[in-house]
Amino acid sequence: MKVGALKEIKPGEARVALTPDSAAQLQKLGHECLVQSGAGEAAGFNDATYEAAGVTVVADAAALVDGADIVIKVREPEEAEVKRLRAGQTLISFFWPAQNEAMLDAAKDTGATVIAMDMVPRISRAQKMDALSSMANIAGYRAVIEAGNNFGRFFTGQVTAAGKIPPARVLIVGAGVAGLAAIGTSTSLGAITMAFDVRPEVSEQIESMGAEFVFLEFDEPAQDGAATGGYAAPSSPEFREKQLEKFRELAPTTDIVITTALIPGRPAPKLWTEDMVKMMKPGSVIIDLAAEKGGNCDLTVMDERVVTENGVIIIGYTDFPSRMATQSSTLYATNIRHMMTDLTPEKDGVVNHNMEDDVIRGATVAHAGEITFPPPPPKVA
Ligand code: NAD
Repeated sequence: MKVGALKEIKPGEARVALTPDSAAQLQKLGHECLVQSGAGEAAGFNDATYEAAGVTVVADAAALVDGADIVIKVREPEEAEVKRLRAGQTLISFFWPAQNEAMLDAAKDTGATVIAMDMVPRISRAQKMDALSSMANIAGYRAVIEAGNNFGRFFTGQVTAAGKIPPARVLIVGAGVAGLAAIGTSTSLGAITMAFDVRPEVSEQIESMGAEFVFLEFDEPAQDGAATGGYAAPSSPEFREKQLEKFRELAPTTDIVITTALIPGRPAPKLWTEDMVKMMKPGSVIIDLAAEKGGNCDLTVMDERVVTENGVIIIGYTDFPSRMATQSSTLYATNIRHMMTDLTPEKDGVVNHNMEDDVIRGATVAHAGEITFPPPPPKVA
């Protein structure tokens, strides 16, 4: 079948869903590949590199969608993109069906099938297709790099002829995929790194990466925020108070805070409050990875770099993966390629959309003129 990658239309989005390498792998599955001219330019893949990989470069979006059986892209589609789809065609991209009901309805009306990369179940067999994790990993890494770019000192301590330099003190709040990537990057740069999560089971992972787990002490056994399925649940008021108390204690000596706390389906919990920002030294940096969901810090402004009156820099960018477009495109295109492998079991260029398969079923949000979201819970872990 013909797999065609669209150029992203969201301003500033630099990623692309197909790379010359992923195209080569798709061809081994028996597919033909198309790419819209210029789609990979901002990620470092120009038209010539695709052509050299046997990909047909198509002039514009309309021609691309016309010529493709499977349309692939990164961002959730906009109305104009959905309207171009037709029955029998498949779109694979991020989609966020719970937040984009109108778009899901419009997609259903076209009769096309939609596979939402954000709906791939987080089960072991599907890890190779887990684009949320591959993007969160990049966001965690980039958060530290961005912090370093805004911080006026070294991460690592040094003793030099010109004086002794203390190491930076970094606190990571939330040790999921993005948080663990941030911990790894921060410790490898030599900062004293501390990390906190409501799931105490991550303390071992945090410590194995060279960071210190921030423990909360309770007189009674804690009712913490740990919950089902490896995801966090909202914390009890007592737990939250203890957590904020601990953060207030750490704020005056912490140089960099990276917040990644997320509870699925809820606004980001407010964990770094205005008074904590005021306690921080001038030149300190906060990177709020949860900015898109309202932010973990009271003073975050989405997509902005804010400098507070006391000189603390707060970054609420929501496009960290796009800021590393070559890396993120490579990983995302690989996630898509793995999805295509599962959709092409005979490697004969024929897609078998098997709705009995937990992963394919979980990610399919529209199929044959029906909305198929939300999916039933997966049968196997
Ligand atoms: P994840 O679910 O793997 O991790 C979130 C972590 O937060 C979990 O470990 C959870 O236990 C923890 N948490 C929840 N409530 C907490 C609390 N009160 N205190 C401390 N920890 C708490 O999610 P992820 O994939 O690592 O993504 C993290 C965040 O990064 C999300 O908000 C995601 O949307 C965001 N993100 C941002 C960008 C960007 O460019 N800004 C890119 C990718 C992801």
